[in-house]
Amino acid sequence: MREDTYRHKGLRENLIQELRQQGITDESVLKAMLDVPRHFFLDPEFDTIAYENRAFPIAADQTISSPYTVAFQSQLLQVKPYDKILEIGTGSMYQSTILAAMDAVVISIERQKVLYDKTSNYMFKTKYPPSKLKFIFGDGFTGQAAFSPFDKIIITCGAPFIPPALVDQLKPGGIMVIPLAEDEHHKMIRIIKQEDGTLIQESFTDFSFVPMLPGRNTENN
Ligand code: SAH
Repeated sequence: MREDTYRHKGLRENLIQELRQQGITDESVLKAMLDVPRHFFLDPEFDTIAYENRAFPIAADQTISSPYTVAFQSQLLQVKPYDKILEIGTGSMYQSTILAAMDAVVISIERQKVLYDKTSNYMFKTKYPPSKLKFIFGDGFTGQAAFSPFDKIIITCGAPFIPPALVDQLKPGGIMVIPLAEDEHHKMIRIIKQEDGTLIQESFTDFSFVPMLPGRNTENN
């Protein structure tokens, strides 16, 4: 088990201040990000820089999103305790842990086998067992019908379009947060599914994500 020292905690407190200055106001998001040690989700060589507000490489050419991106997407989701949330793009497991720390029930899908395999050593397995946070090897474009409908859906890779299966698996009244590809950037979109099935779409600022790719990848890269 990695250590969470006073120094790490101090760095997290500074990061939370920075997120507040950047406009993050949801106290449950800020509390989860203060409580969850981000450096546990990175290779040990990033230990001292884990609390810089930026993305870092993880395995399989993927990235852990920047703290600001995680905070922004989590805030847009308006997470409530017991919300059932589908995440597309498990990656480092950091975003899914933040949602679990906000008392949501989380199902997270990853298409890279190398990254999915790491979920078997998940360090918070006791605190968040599969009944609270479940990892699945699969293709996010098809979602996870078996566990649907979801109160919320969060996509943490840049999507080329809004996957219809995900809209189907969202509850009426549910919220989807999805970065949609636009040139080299991704526009953060929040979709609210109305009771009659129609969608209300709001758009926010640009972010940069790794692409959402179809199918599963079992290569050991
Ligand atoms: N939420 C992650 C962010 C990881 S980056 C974190 O907190 O670290 C985005 C992830 O989405 C990558 O791991 C990538 O492999 C994954 N991804 C891309 N397309 C996908 C798809 N169709 N289905 C599931 N995961 C996908």
